[in-house]
Amino acid sequence: MVKLVMDFKTLAFAFSSLEKTTKRLEMTKILAELFAKASADEIAKILYLLQGRVAPPFEEKELGLGERLVEQAISLATGYHASEIRELYTELGDLGLAVEKLVGKKKQQTLFAKKLTVLDVFSAFKKIAEASGPKSQQLKIKLLAELIHNSEPIEARYIVRIPLNKLRLGIGDPTVLDALSVMKKGDKQLRESLERAYNVTSNIGFVAEKFFREGIKGINTIKIEIGRPIRPALAERLPNAEEIIKKIGRCAVEAKYDGFRMQIHKKGKEVKLFSRAATDMTYMFPEIVDAIRLQKCESFIIDSECLGYDPKNRRYHSFQETMQRRRKYGISDKAKEIPLHLFVFDILYLNGDEMINKAYEQRRKALEKNIDENETVHLSDMIIAETPEELLDYFNACVNAGLEGVIAKDLKAPYTVGARKFAWIKLKKSYETALSDTIDAVIVGYDIGKGKRKELGLGTILVAVYDEQEDVFKTLAKVGTGFSEEDIKRFKQKLDEIKIPHKSPRLISKVEADVWVEPKYVVEISGDEITKSSMHTCGISGGETYALRFPRIVRSEFRDKRPEEATTVTEIIKMAKMQKRKSG
Ligand code: AMP
Repeated sequence: MVKLVMDFKTLAFAFSSLEKTTKRLEMTKILAELFAKASADEIAKILYLLQGRVAPPFEEKELGLGERLVEQAISLATGYHASEIRELYTELGDLGLAVEKLVGKKKQQTLFAKKLTVLDVFSAFKKIAEASGPKSQQLKIKLLAELIHNSEPIEARYIVRIPLNKLRLGIGDPTVLDALSVMKKGDKQLRESLERAYNVTSNIGFVAEKFFREGIKGINTIKIEIGRPIRPALAERLPNAEEIIKKIGRCAVEAKYDGFRMQIHKKGKEVKLFSRAATDMTYMFPEIVDAIRLQKCESFIIDSECLGYDPKNRRYHSFQETMQRRRKYGISDKAKEIPLHLFVFDILYLNGDEMINKAYEQRRKALEKNIDENETVHLSDMIIAETPEELLDYFNACVNAGLEGVIAKDLKAPYTVGARKFAWIKLKKSYETALSDTIDAVIVGYDIGKGKRKELGLGTILVAVYDEQEDVFKTLAKVGTGFSEEDIKRFKQKLDEIKIPHKSPRLISKVEADVWVEPKYVVEISGDEITKSSMHTCGISGGETYALRFPRIVRSEFRDKRPEEATTVTEIIKMAKMQKRKSG
């Protein structure tokens, strides 16, 4: 069947229906209907546009334009003066709504307006993202103005929101995977195969296009490739050494290093470094690139943790200091000041062979055989433990050496791509509370507070965890301690950039906040215990709900995690049960 070229208007109507719902089932249905109208040439572009992008996250193509530039483009396209646009923007609180109104009563005649297609809009945005050099600003304004000029009111609303990063439809990749399956089969039966393909490519657009062209057969042939980030394996938790040995028996126990995660791809002299969230960080760490180039092995993908090293005092830096290396400017100076050391703990691909389905034992052997250790590159420290006592001894040794704890690894388990399974189990030093671990929570709003805090403009932050069943966020606590005045200022500035007038459509909350923000930043928090509470919404729908008592920020840097990678509702429920076992 030949499909018609999709008008941008069709996509704009879908955006508008998506904006009106918070129910995942309904979103899936709207998306499935939209996808059914798309062709193989269009689907990837539609998916990137749905997320306000022009490429997958690991190809850093920044589409963002400031409000001033967007206002200039609107002015150029509609003939309204910048001050009139600003006035309407202030009144409506959103440039998208403002432009929609102005396009509806345009001053200039649109004699030559042409109907926009999805492909037109995508290619214009791509040009905007790629424009560079002294004249690039003017070019960006011109390209955006042309789009607005050719838009109908509803199209203009979204055309302006995309470069402003204000689309915020709240569609996570899991919902897209469901919708692709529903489009083809009416249910989620293809979800697992699609998810596997997504996990080894981290690229939803690529997977969808392949699915359109070659069906599920094509999807099942997708392999790991150098240069495409693989979604990292995650660790489960258990409260103590006995439970770990009971669960996985004789196991490997590795030191848990407290830096940041890095996935490294090498093919000949080509090296790429990816963050945990699959962004390309190659340019940030020249010394790592050099050290990897020296490796004799022809090609591999390895998983590792990076730590800042202090050569003068011969010790490792704290997490906070290490994080100073994740910067866009002043890279070579900082590299001299805080060189990084790499602790490699897994291998996912080796000279043309996929390693992820091999057992840990085999992967570790391959690591030891193929990775040369030197000043920068080390293998993670590891022992084999048969008994809880052996595990605990090693754990204590690690904690005494200033490490965070250990990760126990099932000797027979494969690398669990993109998933939290009992193949890896972390045991951290307790934070003098009943909790066995810290919680990664998403900031969804803040209160202005009283007294000194009121002057600073931020008193407490409202945090939530992720409900993976419903693809929404549910609140867990309001946090007011653990941050310094500096932190508060930084938090407020960052949060004000993502302010929204109502609570996010993806947030389920019974408590109010003075200011709502888009769920974007993840912070690490701790607390005294998890208790049952009807104030917060963290729980399975219809079941009991939980809250964190005496919550506090553990680390004031935002984590390198997408909001969907925060701690989940299911994990909180498990942690609540674990603390009973611990105190009992
Ligand atoms: P968490 O972030 O607390 O869930 O712990 C998992 C993280 O620990 C991983 O994402 C890695 O960044 C880090 N890590 C440190 N050392 C290791 C190791 N030896 N094996 C696996 N992960 C490690």
